Amino acid sequence: MWLDSHCHVTADEFAEDRDAVLDRAESAGVETLIAIGSGYGIEHNARAVKLAGADGRVHAAVGVHPHEAAELSDALRAKLTEWIAQPRVVAVGECGLDYHYLHSSREVQRSVFAEQLALARRSDLPVVLHVRGDEPNAFDEVLDIWRAESGGALEGVLHCYTGTLAFARRALDSGLLISFSGILTFKNDRGLRDIAKALPLDRLLVETDAPLLAPQGFRGKRNEPLHVGLVGEALAAVHGLPAEEVALVTTGNARRLFRLDS
Ligand SMILES: [Zn+2]
Ligand SMILES: [Zn+2]
Repeated sequence: MWLDSHCHVTADEFAEDRDAVLDRAESAGVETLIAIGSGYGIEHNARAVKLAGADGRVHAAVGVHPHEAAELSDALRAKLTEWIAQPRVVAVGECGLDYHYLHSSREVQRSVFAEQLALARRSDLPVVLHVRGDEPNAFDEVLDIWRAESGGALEGVLHCYTGTLAFARRALDSGLLISFSGILTFKNDRGLRDIAKALPLDRLLVETDAPLLAPQGFRGKRNEPLHVGLVGEALAAVHGLPAEEVALVTTGNARRLFRLDS
């Protein structure tokens, strides 16, 4: 019933019990998940591709996280092209801009992000976008690059949303979907629930970003795809809808974005 649209189940944190984690998720109604290959080193994408090939519950996204942008070499570009061509790879990403940590320079981040949007166009795949940082405004820049490079031909989702309501509306106007993580359940959500309430459900996804961002009640612990239902229940509560309905709509949104039924 739920779909975890963004998790890192190939991270070392799951090395000991990955199958049990996937089984637990499935028993709780999380039958499908998108394993994001980037964010833990570019070579790490290979693990997501392999897991997706071996486990029918898993699809993969392949890309270069802004933290890793400075790592990208021609040899890794060739590997990315190879990985992206695999049948159970359903998206490019996560990619984007992160001006909070600046593990790669802003310039390199911008060019590697634009390069991946071009790759997504060539491969005819949707994009998973990551954005963080205020000065200068990574949110504005991510949208500028998205508009310039997508040419209206790309679909994508802004994952783990933490921006303003005004920016969320601009992102929706630019054709993006928005995904909420466990932050939506935090006691101090910094206004995120109000933002989620004001957005149309038919443009929203839910995710865990596991092993990070465990929901309220599990904070400080390892997060896992099982908990995506708690994010969905928080979203259902702000919209005043039954959780089942929100599960149906958000799972449908994700299945359409990642074209899981075609
Ligand atoms: Zn991210
Ligand atoms: Zn992530």
